[in-house]
Amino acid sequence: MRAIVVGAGIGGLTATLSLRRAGHEVTLIEQTARFTDIGAGIQLAPNATRVLHRLDLLDVVAAQAVRPSHVSFRTWSDGTEICRYLLGREAEDEFGAPYLVLHRADLHQALAAAVPTPSVRLNTVVVGIDQDDESACVTTANGERLGADLVVAADGIRSAARQWLFGADEAVFSKTAAYRALLPSNEVADLGLPDLALWLGPGRHFVHYRVRRGKLLNVVAVCGTEAAQESWTARAEPGEQLREFDGWDPRVLNVLERAGQVFRYGIYTRAPLPRWNIGRVTLLGDSAHAMVPFQAQGAAQAIMDAAVLGDTLADATPAEVPAALDRYVRRRLATATGMQARSARAGEEFHLPDGPEAQERNARMAAYAAENRFLPQATTWAADALDEQTPS
Ligand SMILES: Cc1cc2nc3c(=O)[nH]c(=O)nc-3n(C[C@H](O)[C@H](O)[C@H](O)COP(=O)(O)OP(=O)(O)OC[C@H]3O[C@@H](n4cnc5c(N)ncnc54)[C@H](O)[C@@H]3O)c2cc1C
Repeated sequence: MRAIVVGAGIGGLTATLSLRRAGHEVTLIEQTARFTDIGAGIQLAPNATRVLHRLDLLDVVAAQAVRPSHVSFRTWSDGTEICRYLLGREAEDEFGAPYLVLHRADLHQALAAAVPTPSVRLNTVVVGIDQDDESACVTTANGERLGADLVVAADGIRSAARQWLFGADEAVFSKTAAYRALLPSNEVADLGLPDLALWLGPGRHFVHYRVRRGKLLNVVAVCGTEAAQESWTARAEPGEQLREFDGWDPRVLNVLERAGQVFRYGIYTRAPLPRWNIGRVTLLGDSAHAMVPFQAQGAAQAIMDAAVLGDTLADATPAEVPAALDRYVRRRLATATGMQARSARAGEEFHLPDGPEAQERNARMAAYAAENRFLPQATTWAADALDEQTPS
């Protein structure tokens, strides 16, 4: 069959590779002139790295990544460890794939390099999608019309396809912003930071992990705010991040102080949809289920969508596409929607004010870690759930 994928982000690239692996011919259309992924770090849980393994990309991705032995949750004011969850060898043995942290560009490049050049149309903006019983068609900004048996709209949080399919709805501001920075790891070596940690405080949390084989430290400092632009390139005012985190543990302030260029990213989400597909056209990734990044699962869910899509369409004929897309959405929607809610709840828990509620949270997390060893969200990486969602 012939498929068109709109958008060459992590979701669209993985969908292209999964559909090709299922034996289909794919045209990938991207509005930018070059394959680029802006942003800095990304965490990839075993549900995502298992899909990379299936696409024969795990080794190349892992070669640029760091495999943290654990994630440490800490209190904001003095860094007391609330609990730690295992992410290293034990998690890999348990879930059949590693937990990786890496630079987004390294992941994006590995995916893009695996897509054959003739399948790609860069510098091409899709301005419309239509369909009839037999085929689906995209219209580009220069008036070209391209037909296929199905169209996958992986066009991100600002998805126009979502509006064409389901009517106008806007991205929703989460009232949080992330200060993001990358520092050479050797500039913070004296602080003795672990490979991956989350520091929790009133109305804020602070995340750091090493990427690029440990050479760089990726920093994400999240705080509540009334307004912020959704942009990977909007710069913070000088010292703004320090003022936001005033009074935090000196190690946090040291990192924020030493960060050179700091970006301020307004975090937006999309409301859950009751369905993602109509006929021969479907949404995938952030266009379907953009979420706050507090479980580090947005891209992982897009990767899972892509794996299930390829799987569901493996034996489908052109006539069977609408039914196959129904099955894809049935297999993915509840999990991705659940992760949207889970991520939002995590934000509320991370940001509790000091006092009995925060103490209760800390005690709960410590008890859970002692009993289960792995993060609560690891139940969604479990082999059973994955086999059901992404059978090979
Ligand atoms: C601060 C932050 C930290 C995060 N950390 C993590 C993490 O640790 N782990 C994780 O799993 N997720 C994380 N996420 C979430 C993750 O970044 C997103 O869920 C993921 O990148 C979405 O991928 P996508 O392919 O769906 O969309 P996008 O990456 O937005 O790609 C959409 C693509 O479509 C193209 N496009 C759009 N419209 C058109 C058009 N009309 N015609 C042609 N092309 C078009 C765009 O140019 C773009 O290339 C984080 C997000 C944020 C904001």
